[in-house]
Amino acid sequence: MSIIRVHDKEFEPYLTAEEINARIRIIAAQINADYAGKKPLFIAILNGAFMFASDLFKEITIDAEICFIKLASYKGTKSSGHVITAIGLDMDIIGREVIIVEDIVDTGKTLNEFLPQLQHQQPASMSIAALLHKPEATVYPLKIDYLGFTIPNKFVVGYGLDYDGLGRNIRELYRLCEQGN
Ligand code: 5GP
Repeated sequence: MSIIRVHDKEFEPYLTAEEINARIRIIAAQINADYAGKKPLFIAILNGAFMFASDLFKEITIDAEICFIKLASYKGTKSSGHVITAIGLDMDIIGREVIIVEDIVDTGKTLNEFLPQLQHQQPASMSIAALLHKPEATVYPLKIDYLGFTIPNKFVVGYGLDYDGLGRNIRELYRLCEQGN
């Protein structure tokens, strides 16, 4: 792996495909054990989580379902600020064991706004599986139940994550070079 260019910026190798997949197998084993006999519903958040969700779900050996949603943010009224809503959640989640699959938790704002909406639909339980977490960027603390990697507060691309639309198809993770900041 060597330095790559996406749009106008340079990125250096960060995590190999092997490192990512080895970690995903460990997370999947934990989920398989924790949810044995419970038929969880994975809700993967598009676009960024598609590759993580796919690789994670392939390692799930218990009965499980998966669906995909997109989050759209709207400017609400002055009092409510901006509001995040789900598009495409066509599953009934009442009484289900839900596992949210997210690519990266940065400030925590997205999930902090979205989780209460899901909770409103009365799932039996809700947990979070995130590939990456940047603790230094936290504004809204969240409990991440199944975490791939804790990473420094640097912009990353690859493995489903984009920089302005590009880079999602890269099998590894790259991070912004210092001089590119
Ligand atoms: P949060 O609401 O936690 O601040 O942000 C979560 C979303 O921001 C992620 O789902 C992702 O789309 C985007 N994001 C945050 N950090 C990065 C990053 O380093 N690289 C990329 N490509 N997206 C990021």
